[in-house]
Amino acid sequence: RSSEAEEVIGRPTKRHAGDVELVVGHYNARPEVGVKQRLDSPIIGLKAFNNWVKSVLITRFAHPALAASRTKGPRGNSGKVLDMGCGKGGDLTKWAKARIREYIGVDIAEVSVQHARHRWETLRSRPFDASFAALDCYEEPLSTAFPPEQLTTPFDVISMQFCMHYAFETSQKARRMLDNVSRWLRPGGIFLGTIPNADQLLEQLDSLPPNAEDLSFGNDVYKIRFEDRHSRPLFGHRYHFYLKDAVDDVPEYIVQWDNFVQMALEYGLSVVYKEEFHGVFEEHQDDPEFGPLMVRMKVVDSNGESAMDENQWEAANIYIAFALKKMG
Ligand code: SAM
Repeated sequence: RSSEAEEVIGRPTKRHAGDVELVVGHYNARPEVGVKQRLDSPIIGLKAFNNWVKSVLITRFAHPALAASRTKGPRGNSGKVLDMGCGKGGDLTKWAKARIREYIGVDIAEVSVQHARHRWETLRSRPFDASFAALDCYEEPLSTAFPPEQLTTPFDVISMQFCMHYAFETSQKARRMLDNVSRWLRPGGIFLGTIPNADQLLEQLDSLPPNAEDLSFGNDVYKIRFEDRHSRPLFGHRYHFYLKDAVDDVPEYIVQWDNFVQMALEYGLSVVYKEEFHGVFEEHQDDPEFGPLMVRMKVVDSNGESAMDENQWEAANIYIAFALKKMG
């Protein structure tokens, strides 16, 4: 870790209220571990699979938008990317492989942002320009964190990986999030992401025994606990999420897909892709590009043996991947 990243750990962070404080506290407190320790994770297979899904999404939907960008670099690199909820910068190498020109990473968790910046600083030959900021992207406009000249050229791609669902606490937050996406994305630009699979989660809730008091389900890898069995609000439909070696009982919100699609349309964003993670696997496992990538990313070994056990495979399908295009 850089001394800058060391310095920020333990420093009191900005205060947030309610569930947001729990979410920020959780992500700020999660230690950044090195590559070696990451390989020791008990859910390394699932983490590798999630990374593979993100790589597929980026290659299929971000690459064409980046290639068509007006933002060209001197080394043939092209395109401007906003990573909203960038966390510790886990996708930086994916964007380096996509040969982008410029990257902006924002996240509400300040400690994570410091780690992401440090990760970029230590990327070999700094393959793209990057800026980072701590920002509540569901409460504040992006323009509060960056000077206008940095936002004059719109983004070609906006990515929200495993984080958009936190915006669905209220309709105001979801709208602020969509405004932050739509306002700074160029027409023809791509908005891609990964979110929990609402249908899956609600189906599992519905199949609990009728008199069950504990509204939770899962396995030794993940656990989801609802507070109420019958109410299905469009916003603020809260559950608590545990994922082994990753997320410790953090409050999250259901994203009802049709509601999201309808709202996104109001912001000029139209769906081009939506698939469950199992479906992404089935669709791409035999692909000449993404099949071998699975071996390189250690999702499967060279004999095609999966690095995930049954429980990790089940946990993988609590997510869906999506891509939307900005119209106009
Ligand atoms: N995108 C990263 C990845 O795929 O590795 C990190 C995903 S992590 C599961 C979820 C991230 O969402 C956390 O870093 C968290 O701080 C961020 N987040 C939650 N609420 C946010 C908000 N209101 N504004 C910005 N980021 C937020």
